[in-house]
Amino acid sequence: MSLKQRILITGGAGFLGSHLCERFLKEGFHVIAMDNLITGDLRNIEQLFKNTSFEFYEHDVTKYIYLPGDLHYILHFASPASPIDYLKIPIQTLKVGSLGIHNLLGLARKKNARVLIASTSEVYGDPLVHPQPEEYYGNVNPVGPRGVYDEAKRFQEAITMAYHTFHGLDTRIVRIFNTYGPRMRLNDGRVLPAFIGQALRGEDLTVFGDGSQTRSFCYVDDQVEGIFRLLMSDYVHPVNIGNPDEITILQFAEEIIKLTGTEQKIVFRPLPKDDPKVRQPDITKAKAILGWEPKVSRSEGLRITYDYFKSLPREVLYEREYKNFDKYIR
Ligand code: UDP
Repeated sequence: MSLKQRILITGGAGFLGSHLCERFLKEGFHVIAMDNLITGDLRNIEQLFKNTSFEFYEHDVTKYIYLPGDLHYILHFASPASPIDYLKIPIQTLKVGSLGIHNLLGLARKKNARVLIASTSEVYGDPLVHPQPEEYYGNVNPVGPRGVYDEAKRFQEAITMAYHTFHGLDTRIVRIFNTYGPRMRLNDGRVLPAFIGQALRGEDLTVFGDGSQTRSFCYVDDQVEGIFRLLMSDYVHPVNIGNPDEITILQFAEEIIKLTGTEQKIVFRPLPKDDPKVRQPDITKAKAILGWEPKVSRSEGLRITYDYFKSLPREVLYEREYKNFDKYIR
């Protein structure tokens, strides 16, 4: 019997999930990744299969989960996570944040495992408080295009807290603000891969609205460090993890033009409905409780991310999304 701590990472083949798999392997854990590969991609974790402390299950967590053996930790990171996903796979987005987490909380009870769920700055909706502290309850439109994601994540927080208070389950909640880095999906419509993809394909950069809306971008290694510290802490209430360095989307497009050296120009497109006008994490709690703050500057993080996208085979720039669509979406 191995004495290693065993951790289940749902969404393990996704952007954040794959980085978490790597981190926990480095920390000496036995890592079990689970993913239905709708938006996840085995190429994100192919380097891990040679590691005997790594296992992968292709499984949809909205269905009953059977997992043999001990389990000490669960990270629930399975979820579509881009505005295009919410439009194309809305029901799956709702199910993974509701039925999926219900199955995982049941599994956690059975195994007596600690659960950390990936929540999001989207619980604050189009915020009327700026920057957003954890105490802010948000301004969410439940029936708008983002409602399927925002409400699933809000439900996920609620059911997780209920399992904590009612069953005494050991739980953690991270509210993740915009995070970027290698292995983001190139064609998922998120602003960073959208701009870099456009630059690499020789297309104009599409800024939505007048580009005055703001976001605050956190490099993936910083995000993973924050999540790791939160999991190992004893703090059960939600904690924001993100980089407070705020920028307008127009400035961001200009930075990408400089970074990539593209000769294309910026073109303006309509602002999608309910697109938050501002977003910036208040990370006072993360600093005080976890001793955490981001270390990687945007220029450094963007350079690494651009080098990654540039190194991909050219055909990836034109790949279609949702290769497993027919298998899971009914
Ligand atoms: N955006 C844009 N052009 C694009 C894609 C996105 O201007 O091609 C804007 C989008 O309207 C939003 C911001 O960039 O204001 C961030 O969008 P993203 O989809 O990355 O995530 P969000 O933070 O809105 O969930």
